[in-house]
Parts: sequence; C-alpha cells; structure tokens
Amino acid sequence: MREFDYIIIGAGAAGFSSLIKINELTKDKPEILMVSKGPLGGTCVNTGCVPSKALIEVAKHLKKLNIFEDRGLKITGYNMEFQRLFESIRDLTSRLRKSKYEDILNEMDNVEFIQGEARFIDKDTIEVNNGRKFKGKKILIATGSRPNIPNIPGIEKIDYYTTEDIWTMEGKPTQMAVIGSGAIGLELSQAFARLGVDVHVIEVLDRPIPTTEPEISRMLTDILRRDGVKFYFKTRVKEIHSKNGEIILKLISHSGEHEITVDTLLIAAGRRPNSDRLNLERAGVEVDSRGFIKVDNKMKTTNPNIYAAGDVAGTPKPAMLETIAAREGVVAASSMIGVEPETIDYNSIPVVVFTDPELAFVGLTEEKVMESVGACACRGVQFSLMPKSQILNIEDGYAKLVIDPYTGTVKGLHVLAPYASELIIQGSLYIRHEYRVEDVINLIQVFPTVSEIVKATGQAFIRRVDKMPCCVE
Ligand SMILES: Cc1cc2nc3c(=O)[nH]c(=O)nc-3n(C[C@H](O)[C@H](O)[C@H](O)COP(=O)(O)OP(=O)(O)OC[C@H]3O[C@@H](n4cnc5c(N)ncnc54)[C@H](O)[C@@H]3O)c2cc1C
Repeated sequence: MREFDYIIIGAGAAGFSSLIKINELTKDKPEILMVSKGPLGGTCVNTGCVPSKALIEVAKHLKKLNIFEDRGLKITGYNMEFQRLFESIRDLTSRLRKSKYEDILNEMDNVEFIQGEARFIDKDTIEVNNGRKFKGKKILIATGSRPNIPNIPGIEKIDYYTTEDIWTMEGKPTQMAVIGSGAIGLELSQAFARLGVDVHVIEVLDRPIPTTEPEISRMLTDILRRDGVKFYFKTRVKEIHSKNGEIILKLISHSGEHEITVDTLLIAAGRRPNSDRLNLERAGVEVDSRGFIKVDNKMKTTNPNIYAAGDVAGTPKPAMLETIAAREGVVAASSMIGVEPETIDYNSIPVVVFTDPELAFVGLTEEKVMESVGACACRGVQFSLMPKSQILNIEDGYAKLVIDPYTGTVKGLHVLAPYASELIIQGSLYIRHEYRVEDVINLIQVFPTVSEIVKATGQAFIRRVDKMPCCVE
C-alpha cells in the first residue's frame, strides 16, 4: 500500500488552498495525494459562487437597461437569449476550472490526483472507490457540503433542481417555486424574476437572512417583491406532487392551506456537511449533532493526525463561504506541517448576499449586542441621503452601525446598497481592531462613493445626516 506524507480529500477551496500552502511551507517536496469525487475546484467554481454571480450580473444589467432614461439614454431593441446565457455560464465555469485548478495542479509534480470517492478504513488509511487503499501521515478532510433536501412527502417522485444541477438548464422556466430564502434562494429568485420568470419563494421563517437586522431583511424583501418575486413566509410545504408535467406544492401557513402550481422547482433549503459517507468512526473523527466535523482552532479533529477545513468543518463560521474554506485550508496546512498558524477571527468575517442591491454584513446585530451587554447604540442611514445614490439613480439602500455603548467600539455593520460587497471589509477592520465610532467618523472616504454611507452611520451619532451638505467632516 502506498504511503503519502499528506492526503487531501476534496478539491475545492479548502483542499486547494491547503495544497498550495503545504507546498509553500515545505522545501523537500512532500508526496501528496489529492482525491476528489467531483470536478476540480469544488462547489465555488463549478456550481456555486461563479455561475450564480455570472447569472446575477446579467439579470442586473437587464433590469437597469433604462435606468438613465431621465438623462436621455433610452435603450430599445435588445434581446435576452436564455439558452445562450446558460451556455456562456457553463463556458465560464469550465474556463476558470481549467485556468485556476487543472493547470495549477498539472504543474505540481509532487501531487498525485485521483478522481473518486474516499472513505476511511482505519485511523490513517483511506480507500478510494471501494478499491485502492492509501496511507497518509497527515490527512485533511475538505469534502465540503451539499444541498439539504427537506423531507417533504412526495418530493422523491418530483424532478427538481438544486444548485448542483440548475446550471444545466436549457429552456427558460415559466413559473418557478424556490424552497428557502437564504442567500442562495434570494440571489437566484431575484435573478430568475428579472429574467422574466414568475418566482414563488417559500420560507418557514418570518423573513429572509435572519442573521442581519430585521429592518434590512424586510427592505430587501420589498425590493425583491418589486422585481416580481412572491414570498410565502411562515409557510411550510406540506406535500408535493406532479400532474400533467406540472409541479403542485401544497403549502400550509397560519392562514390555512393552499396550492401553487409551477413548472420548475428549485430547492435552496440550506446545505449539509459531506461527512456522513466517510466512515469517520473508523478514523476516530467525531462530528457534532449536525454532522459537522469537530475541530479545534487549528483545524485538528479528534484524531491528532486528521484535520478538517471548509464547509465540512464545525467552526463558528457566520456562513458557509469560499473565503472561509480557503482560510481554514491554510490554517490546517500550517498545523499539519507544525508551523504555528494564525488562527481565524470568525467575528470579523463579512457575509454577502449578492442580490441587487447587495446585502453585506459583519459582526453582530443590535439584538445580539443587547443580549450580550444589555444595551446597544445603533444608527441607521438611508442610502438615498448619499449624493452617490442620486448619481447612480438608485434610491434603495440602508446601512446600520452597531456599537457597544459601554466601550464605544464597533460590533456590527449591516449594509444594503449597490457594491456593498466591496465596502463591507471596512466593517471587518473596525471590528477586528476594536475601532470606536470616532474612528468611523474620522476616516476620510472618497467622494462620491457608496462607501461614504459607512462614515454617515458614524456621523449619525453626532448630527442629523439628513441636514448635512455633500461633504462634511
Ligand atoms: C449557489 C452557491 C453560491 C455561492 N456563492 C458564494 C459566494 O458568492 N461567495 C462565497 O464566499 N461563497 C459562496 N458559496 C459557498 C462556497 O461555494 C463554499 O463555501 C465553498 O465552495 C466550500 O469550499 P470547500 O472546499 O469546503 O468545499 P467544496 O468546494 O464543496 O469542495 C469539496 C470537494 O470534496 C469532494 N468530495 C466530497 N466528498 C468526497 C469524498 N468522500 N471523497 C472525495 N472527494 C469528496 C467534492 O467533490 C468537492 O470537490 C456559494 C455556494 C453555492 C452553492
């Protein structure tokens, strides 16, 4: 049986960043085996971040074609080819898979890659595709997550999409039901609605994205409603069946039962860790009650020679994100090699929902600060008060700064605005370095930018933002 210095199970963000880091930190070209069931690059490039953001970008442009009609720009005679859009998304993912993963892997002569499903047969040995066995001195589990399929009566007889296969879509749906209003459900619902699909979103909770401020998730809901998305909150799907090629969902809520009929169903009801098919008990690796692999802050599992990183790892992550998976892969690599890693500050990791406008947040909500210190100081500012809003011709948006009133330090920043994904990192720095509200006010921003709204949330503690000239320090 061949023995490797390192075995990496999974070829996504966590697996790849760990692979690169191991090679960077070691001089003697260790022998590394990488095993992956799915395509190189994992979820993000193949079925996650990249295709979803490519779709969203087109839907955003379609919506904004005539945004500057009042400034004399009227666009007529355009054509949206749905099939071509999806073909181009598939092209994009394969181009990026090749340039960012395949080509890079091919250049590493100390790495052997095997396509297949790995399972543990004991504490240091894996078996691939129930056949070949390999020993590893250190093993990283980076197997990611997969869509969670809710246990709805009748679902097993229905053809539905998840984010794993929606990118294979050929024709444009007419009516689409989306189960779940998390980040993925919201992003795709808005994009499909803007492409002309009649979208119905069913959610058991009373609002989307409960980890952000309630007023912001309600604003976002209203924006998506204006795009045509129909929401059914506090609603469960009781049963699903199909009839004459259509899918009928029986919904139940406080107002009783009713049905919706669609031609397409997308399940976006969260994701579950890929830990259940690995025979982890044979390796002495424990999981928590939800199946996430238990790790310490150096990504070490309950077996000292086995590490876990990314979606499958039970770290206090604010969401399953590519960025976190990649960082955890780096921490795991350093730990496996014996280099003291810089541990991750999970409190300052930004989360973004790529709707239009984007929702970006970091840190705590007002409610959470109230729970932890018994008081909270917060200020919110409407985006329409920012000069950049008038320049962009976009009024929707809001930002809220959450402060610990006893220390004056920033605890949370929540922004609903165009390009919020680009500016939220300010909030991460404020939280990470325990900046105070004065620091938010004193930082000179660029005029005119969306980013100024962050400063304005700080200024709102000392003056009326609706009575401010364009630039005031
Ligand atoms: C639609 C969608 C949109 C997203 N958008 C964003 C975004 O905009 N920004 C962001 O930061 N994050 C986004 N994410 C989340 C992001 O994609 C994931 O957090 C990230 O890809 C996780 O990386 P990972 O390495 O942990 O797992 P993955 O990338 O899922 O990699 C896991 C790998 O393990 C393999 N594997 C699984 N089991 C086995 C086994 N037994 N043996 C061998 N191989 C195995 C898989 O085939 C895969 O290659 C999105 C996710 C989705 C679904």
